[in-house]
Amino acid sequence: MNEFTFIESIKQEFYRQPTLEKGIGDDAAVFYQESKRIVTAVDTFVENIHFSRQTMTPSQIGYRALAVNLSDLAAMGAIPAFLLTSVVIPKTWEMKEIQQIFTGLKDLASQYKMDLIGGDTVSGEELVLTITVIGYVEKDKIRYRHLAKPEDIVFVTGTVGDSRAGLYMLMHPDEYTHASHFIQSHQMPSPRVEFARALSDVKRLCLNDVSDGLGNEAIEIAEASQVELILEEKFIPTSQGFSQFDVEQQEQWKLFGGEDFELLGTVSPADWGKVQTIADQLDLQVTKIGVVRQGCRGKVYLMKGNHYVKPLKKDGYRHLK
Ligand code: ADP
Ligand code: MG
Repeated sequence: MNEFTFIESIKQEFYRQPTLEKGIGDDAAVFYQESKRIVTAVDTFVENIHFSRQTMTPSQIGYRALAVNLSDLAAMGAIPAFLLTSVVIPKTWEMKEIQQIFTGLKDLASQYKMDLIGGDTVSGEELVLTITVIGYVEKDKIRYRHLAKPEDIVFVTGTVGDSRAGLYMLMHPDEYTHASHFIQSHQMPSPRVEFARALSDVKRLCLNDVSDGLGNEAIEIAEASQVELILEEKFIPTSQGFSQFDVEQQEQWKLFGGEDFELLGTVSPADWGKVQTIADQLDLQVTKIGVVRQGCRGKVYLMKGNHYVKPLKKDGYRHLK
């Protein structure tokens, strides 16, 4: 299979987005947008850094790579519309497996009526998959991380630490309880796009997706909004079976495990009820985990019982040490 038959094989039979004028097949894609803001993000996945064939199937690799990008669109309040994919293919991968990556990726794309409108295909030393997503959002509904205000309620969707626990299970095979839940959280995370969109009536909302761990994301909100966040450790939601791990692992993973792709947000107390109602309607867990204060700008304090713990420091995986 050459590059051209490969591109032909991953091309959609038809496109779904009404704003698309030209997809795959010319020098570049063309779409228009008259009424909304255009939101775009890109993520790169390098074999054995971001994923491994030991812990994921090709189709899961594709699915997950898009889910990660969709999580960024969700955190901006955007409606997904398009994606572009650039792939570096090494000799160690069969074309059939590369096509399976695209099967997983396009499965998720179709759930959101997204169109694959272009990309690039080259050969190289190791598998690298780069995905660019494009979405739309109403100008006054963009969920910037600088929008937190004192007295806001801090909440998080779902549970945290699961993806990291799932990866641990995959890397240390043993007898575990609730293994399929943790492993699924790692291999096929669910971006919270519907929830973020369902909140579009809420006037002011600050959102950040939990890609680098709750602690890091909270610090980013505190810094961008120039406020203090106080989180209560006992309210941080973890899933059933999380307690089977060592206490130190639990503490590290729920704050800095990362890759949960849940949403961390802040909202005024007046709108908190609305957030809870919408989460209920979507059968999604949402938990109040703290409050915003004017306090010490840019800092996040974790409360354990009745006393504060020193301000959280950024932690976790660093690419450029
Ligand atoms: P060009 O040389 O003009 O860049 P290419 O031969 O690289 O064209 O690509 C031909 C068409 O196929 C373009 O529309 C491009 O966007 C698309 N394409 C190439 N690789 C991919 C890919 N991995 N995923 C999606 N579209 C792709
Ligand atoms: Mg090209």
